Amino acid sequence: PKGIQYMQKYQNIQCICSRFQSGWRNLTNISKASLAVGKPRYIDPQGNDTTQPSNLEQVKAFASRKPSPVTLKRLFEFGSEPSPKKLLTAAQLLHRELPCRLARRVIQLASLPYGLSDMPSVKVVKDMYERSFIDMIQFPKPLDEEEELIFTELIRKIRQRHDNVVKLIAKGILELKRYCGKGTEDISIHDFLDRFYMSRIGIRFLISQHIAMHEPREGYVGVINARCRPADVAEDAANVAKSIAYRHYGEAPDIQLLGNISLSFPYIEGHLHHMFFELLKNSLRATIEYHRDSDIFPPVKIIIADGQEDVTVKISDEGGGIPRSAMNKIWTYMFTTVDIPPEQVLEATEGGAYKGPDADPIAGLGYGLPLSRLYARYFGGELSVMSMEGYGTDAYLHICKLGDKEESLV
Ligand code: ADP
Ligand code: MG
Repeated sequence: PKGIQYMQKYQNIQCICSRFQSGWRNLTNISKASLAVGKPRYIDPQGNDTTQPSNLEQVKAFASRKPSPVTLKRLFEFGSEPSPKKLLTAAQLLHRELPCRLARRVIQLASLPYGLSDMPSVKVVKDMYERSFIDMIQFPKPLDEEEELIFTELIRKIRQRHDNVVKLIAKGILELKRYCGKGTEDISIHDFLDRFYMSRIGIRFLISQHIAMHEPREGYVGVINARCRPADVAEDAANVAKSIAYRHYGEAPDIQLLGNISLSFPYIEGHLHHMFFELLKNSLRATIEYHRDSDIFPPVKIIIADGQEDVTVKISDEGGGIPRSAMNKIWTYMFTTVDIPPEQVLEATEGGAYKGPDADPIAGLGYGLPLSRLYARYFGGELSVMSMEGYGTDAYLHICKLGDKEESLV
């Protein structure tokens, strides 16, 4: 909103346009409004959109650059007490970094195995990445405070554009499953998806960190909470997961918090929340379904431990466990014990936006575990699952405490 307010006052857009690199036409006709929403920006004198599609050479050139990883510690040190100068430096780094990361995904999305690239929902995602890549490379390097604000608005729009990507890809996988019929469980696309989703986590984290530095909050550096309390985050995730269970089954087991519940350390709450939420949904569902005929449910336990290197959280249930033969499938993005038709994941609406079901399902897309493991690994942590078939499951979430592990860019 600050950026938008500023943009309304910002009259002298020409000075930015004049610095666009040659090769792009009608630069002075770029409209202020289109800069604000990240829409196509090359408008000819008759008002037609003449935006050039990105040519493959350009995508390839950017994709051949190596992304530069960040560490939580460096971001934390850099981002405390953000000044306009720091924000500008951060924006310039992002301006250099994002096109490369986006371009690498465009190339990857066009060359997924088993025909996954041809699934309609996957094509939509590829177009999004291409659109965002073009938006980025058409934006000149921000050189002062005003340009930095406009740049920040642009990346906010890009983040928003990609909000539904995980669901769209999940839908693409269901489309592929339907297309291939039986046997899809065996195809191995998880390496590709690991890389794709890991990169998405990184891109969104960098954008969110930058935006949040514009809106400083007490105790936070960007989106990193200096005193993130796993117990608080777990409690919050537990409440949301339980309400989904109530809606779905009409009942839910208790969730107990044990161990070092006063512990706090610098971490990204959003990531922690995502992992707790997914693990708890799984534990609640398993417990309810396994004990359907008994009067009481055994509680789901969350145990928090503080170590020198890691904070470890164990989520422990008595939901009957996972058969050993299924253990190596749980990380594949394909494995779920629920059947959902692709149409129920997400539908395109008339306005071109996407709409999912009103209430999120408790399970069914099969990406809860693999995606949570990526969040854990993103800054050097790990997630592992141990099962005792006939009794229950323990999920161990290890989170790197020191924060000096580089982003994982698999
Ligand atoms: P989804 O929950 O959408 O099916 P997940 O990746 O979260 O996808 O889990 C995959 C599958 O692994 C589940 O469908 C379920 O069969 C099994 N699973 C996961 N966690 C547990 C658990 N705590 N207890 C029993 N089975 C589980
Ligand atoms: Mg799940």
